[in-house]
Amino acid sequence: MTIELISVGDELLAGRIVNTNAAFISQQLAEEGWEVLRETTLPDDLSTLKKGFEEVCGRSPIVIVTGGLGPTCDDHTRAAAAAFYGCGLVFDNKVAEDLTRRYGPDLTSLRDQATRPERAEPLLNAVGTAPGLLFSKKDSALILLPGVPQEMRPMLTNQVIPYLKAHFQQKKKRFVETLHLCAITESEIDTFLRGKAEQVQIGLYPGYGMVNLVLASTDLAALKKIKEEVERAFTTHLFSAPSGKLEEALLHFFVKNKKRLAVAESCTGGSLAAVLTRIPGASDYFLGSIVAYSNELKMAQLRVSADVLEKKGAVSAEIGAEMLRGLFQVTTADVGVAVTGIAGPSGGSAEKPVGTVWVAIGERDTPPHVVRYQITGSREKIIDATCTRALSQLWRKLVYGVNP
Ligand code: ATP
Ligand code: MG
Repeated sequence: MTIELISVGDELLAGRIVNTNAAFISQQLAEEGWEVLRETTLPDDLSTLKKGFEEVCGRSPIVIVTGGLGPTCDDHTRAAAAAFYGCGLVFDNKVAEDLTRRYGPDLTSLRDQATRPERAEPLLNAVGTAPGLLFSKKDSALILLPGVPQEMRPMLTNQVIPYLKAHFQQKKKRFVETLHLCAITESEIDTFLRGKAEQVQIGLYPGYGMVNLVLASTDLAALKKIKEEVERAFTTHLFSAPSGKLEEALLHFFVKNKKRLAVAESCTGGSLAAVLTRIPGASDYFLGSIVAYSNELKMAQLRVSADVLEKKGAVSAEIGAEMLRGLFQVTTADVGVAVTGIAGPSGGSAEKPVGTVWVAIGERDTPPHVVRYQITGSREKIIDATCTRALSQLWRKLVYGVNP
């Protein structure tokens, strides 16, 4: 049983509003074991809508439409559906009663809203004025809902889904598992998963060294098996957080272990601190960041030695380690991260090209681990990717004892 969606509105096609209705409907239906196969967006135009209904209803038994049901001159969905079914419009007493009960006895401005195509059954709208419309046959249904999300959502949940459940067979329930991995590329996971699980659908959503892996299947045992295989193969890359953000996983780790973090940033200019503090409660473990770009500030704030700066240059493993050492001197942090690098676009050399970054990580009174990364791309990308690399390195060291 296939379901298609039609979203109606010039505003959607012009990009003035984002189609959240389609996303909501697909999610709700998926949770109930239905699958949406296609979604079409059409303009507020009577003949295009009628043709669209012919085309979509011609190939899919269940079609859900949102938008264009209102009383204004730009709303044509109801008339297009009546034309598609070749039926007239009639006044609906049930809708009229509902509207007068909620908006008073004068129906002048709402008369249109109480008028429906003869063939349709109204779906009452508890929030707004435009009722939904249900054209139902034994093996098919065309369902029209208002475009306003606050009106559409309860109608879908309280009326449409129960109707579909009562009249059409669902596909089997789909189970979904999401895994979050850091310090890994999409292709490493892809290579591992290839050919492993025919019954499991795989979604890989990468971002600068992070990957969200979504596994879905109607076969719960197959899903569990493949999830466990991934967990075994990539254990030291895993993290979990409701938001899917590593900084949230780090917050929980630090708070649980009663440790506190400070960072020293050169090439990220405070971005690392910004990422860490996006999560509410960050001040429970995060002391702050010392942003030190110039040698002068590195020496004054982080006690970096002039001699090492002179000999090795500000972008070097030694300065990363010095910044971390200084951080422990000037703060009471238990754990520290120091970052130095060249975000570009200028400032690179043959030996240290743009995108050269050192991240030093350590716990107080233990030797630091300093890792060199070579990142390509724009200044913005280098800064973002440096933050991700640094947090991944920190996570893997603290939680799994991995020193890359
Ligand atoms: P109304 O009675 O308000 O006219 P309607 O059913 O005619 O409702 P539209 O006129 O198509 O619906 O849209 C009304 C508003 O609802 C839009 O301006 C927009 O803010 C929102 N909306 C419509 N369609 C969508 C959609 N697909 N996703 C998100 N919001 C939408
Ligand atoms: Mg409208």
